[in-house]
Amino acid sequence: MSLVLSYNEVVQVGLRIASSVDLTTFCVRATATPRVGKRLEDLRIVINAPVTRASLQRCLTLAPNLVDLDLLLSNPDIPGILDGVVLRNLRFFRTNLPHHLLPAFFAAHARISVLVLDACHAPDCDCPLGATHLPHLKCISGPAPCVTRFVNNGLTRLTMSSPDDGGSTSLVLRSLPLRLYTLCTLTIDFGADDHDVLQSVIASFPAIRKLKLLEKPSEARGRTSTRRAWNNTATWSKDLLSLPLLEELMLRTGSTLVRRSASEDEERKAIMRWVSGLRSATRGRPHYHPSLYHIGVWYRSDDNDNGVVTHWSQHAGAWVRASILLHPPQDYDFV
Ligand SMILES: [Zn+2]
Repeated sequence: MSLVLSYNEVVQVGLRIASSVDLTTFCVRATATPRVGKRLEDLRIVINAPVTRASLQRCLTLAPNLVDLDLLLSNPDIPGILDGVVLRNLRFFRTNLPHHLLPAFFAAHARISVLVLDACHAPDCDCPLGATHLPHLKCISGPAPCVTRFVNNGLTRLTMSSPDDGGSTSLVLRSLPLRLYTLCTLTIDFGADDHDVLQSVIASFPAIRKLKLLEKPSEARGRTSTRRAWNNTATWSKDLLSLPLLEELMLRTGSTLVRRSASEDEERKAIMRWVSGLRSATRGRPHYHPSLYHIGVWYRSDDNDNGVVTHWSQHAGAWVRASILLHPPQDYDFV
């Protein structure tokens, strides 16, 4: 009994709201007992049905001390949805609201340090976040043209997806006005025919430690070229050396990595070419990468069986295959 009583007395700091019924239930409870809302620090609102602006605003007003907020709606374009909402402690914000609904909210929440955005929905890719300043931002994720506006010293993690109009992330990278030495982790997608993707990374983020490259799925299955940036071993290896602090490289591609899928011997040869710059293990002088210790490749990811995920690790100079996964699910979390 005492256990039940003490459980009931605990006021949750985290809550997930998945329906308008949940939303109403929370509002009724937090109105009757304000400390229920005031104690809340981590709120995830993920609703796949129409909701009203008033009910969402009411909910957020009742939880003024949130630190983490997820706000993901199936119909997110609700004008004025964040009007009057003030969350002074907010640090993490993930949302799929169109960007034109966000500038005023960001102006009142300058202490956000982690921001995850979805599609912009601005006409002509003219993102309305141009004048937004978030000086404490450490991590940002979203469409390339929108998030580049936040690339400033202090940023440590950046995830850029293709622009809404399907343009090139590489081109956006190359248009950045500065080289950023604070960035540690970069995730970008790129076109299969973008053979200079590493050059674009080097130009902007020469000090990165973790790089994840996600090739955009081919729209014409089975009829595309298999030529890729890494087929040119000398250039690929030299470019990797131009990222001297790089420790982890992750690559997802619809192309093949080896002739016989999942062959450990063939994979080893391919990986050794990347890290040594040599086409053959017995010829020439290797130039080993100084810090790379992990390479993960998801190859043939566009195939009907979703291909192969292979991870290679370096221990005391020797590269070994750490794991192999055949036919991962399409939504496999490639980390
Ligand atoms: Zn935008």
